[in-house]
Amino acid sequence: MSRQKRLEEADKRYIWHPFTQMQEYQGMEPVIIEQGEGSYLIDIHDRRYLDGVSSLWVNVHGHRCSEIDRAIIEQVGRISHTTLLGLSNPPAIELAERLVEITPAGLERVFYSDNGSTGCEVALKMAFQYWQHRGARNKTQFISFKNAYHGDTLGAVSVGGIDLFHEAFRPLLFPVLQAEAPYCYRCSLGLTRPACGMACLDSLERILKDHHEGVAAVIIEPLVQGAAGMITQPPGFLQRVRELCTRYGVLMIADEVAVGFGRTGRMFACDHEQVSPDVMVLAKGITGGYLPLAATLTTEEVYRAFLGEHHEFKTFFHGHTYTGNPLACAAALANLEVFEEEKTIEQLAPKIDFLARQLERFKELSVVGEVRQCGFMTGIELVADKETRAPFAPQEKIGIKVILEARKRGVIIRPLGDVIVIMPPLSISKAELAELVEVIYQSIRTVIAA
Ligand code: PLP
Repeated sequence: MSRQKRLEEADKRYIWHPFTQMQEYQGMEPVIIEQGEGSYLIDIHDRRYLDGVSSLWVNVHGHRCSEIDRAIIEQVGRISHTTLLGLSNPPAIELAERLVEITPAGLERVFYSDNGSTGCEVALKMAFQYWQHRGARNKTQFISFKNAYHGDTLGAVSVGGIDLFHEAFRPLLFPVLQAEAPYCYRCSLGLTRPACGMACLDSLERILKDHHEGVAAVIIEPLVQGAAGMITQPPGFLQRVRELCTRYGVLMIADEVAVGFGRTGRMFACDHEQVSPDVMVLAKGITGGYLPLAATLTTEEVYRAFLGEHHEFKTFFHGHTYTGNPLACAAALANLEVFEEEKTIEQLAPKIDFLARQLERFKELSVVGEVRQCGFMTGIELVADKETRAPFAPQEKIGIKVILEARKRGVIIRPLGDVIVIMPPLSISKAELAELVEVIYQSIRTVIAA
């Protein structure tokens, strides 16, 4: 049996893939990626694919980025892991210093964990305990938004708002106050922009007015609700959320796991609206898409509330085994160096415009309801009826059909339901970007015609 065949069989025999209907997967030919190079993934048959979703929204400077490769190898030559529980290590220290420098003003302290979900868990527990230490013992609740996604651990699921992913676990979750979120294409208030005056914000204000004495924090994905289908917020929304949090005395947690590190065209989404949250969660792109790492940043005020004598037990009792892993921190430092050296954010601006122009023609397709773009984050919402905006029946698996068609044409993308996501590495060239968009356009057309 060939090596390829053996791997394909063993994959199906042993691996339970995440967010995957395994019954369906068993009937498909698995794509087994063995190598990467720039914007391309290369499988065990030496087939090359454009990485259209940055290996799930993480890759920044391309695969096999020499600076990040080198930083990890050099760090391996020193030490690969040592604990941050009571000890420290140079990459973790230097990275914390850099993160404080580049994130919005006021964020002064860095708490590491391993992924976006744990980064959000840390944020929630930190916000909760902060108020306990401050003596505001009633402030125990959280406000989150409809359609929100903050990860798959139970705290993160509690503040999630995507029924498909979260509803099954409801009996295990703590209750949250859920505010309306802007999904302008399908406005739950039946309003249209800009005449609505962002009326969805009234719901947040009402909840804060009625409940602020019992609320610890509001958690938000700034600018784009990614997993919900790349749902973009109207300009000014984030800033108003900040104002309301300040006015009602609750902490603001910005979950920048998906939008951070350049995806929106600025280093952080909060930068677009000069917003400084009280807590910011970073993961995904933090290591350039190389290794799992998250950082939850907070203010000096929150940090100081946890200081006290040993016997007062004000300690933040939270930590994961691999917290502050030196290899991941070394990769993250190299990632930030490349951002600087290659002026990644400046280089990105013309590519964002180019992408916007390339996306224009999708709007004419009969199944494209809306094209949403924020920087390098794009969602193309496919609908059965453009007039009524009626979605396709789930049995039609339209999103899956489109991505499988794209795969045949050498592009890897992953849909969110019937929303086709385009989110390539920031380093992608214009020619590659044009090819990526063309393949997706042709794939949609082929699937509609079939
Ligand atoms: N928060 C947001 C906004 C996300 O988009 C994600 C993942 O997509 C997460 C949190 C969870 O991150 P992870 O999958 O690394 O746990």
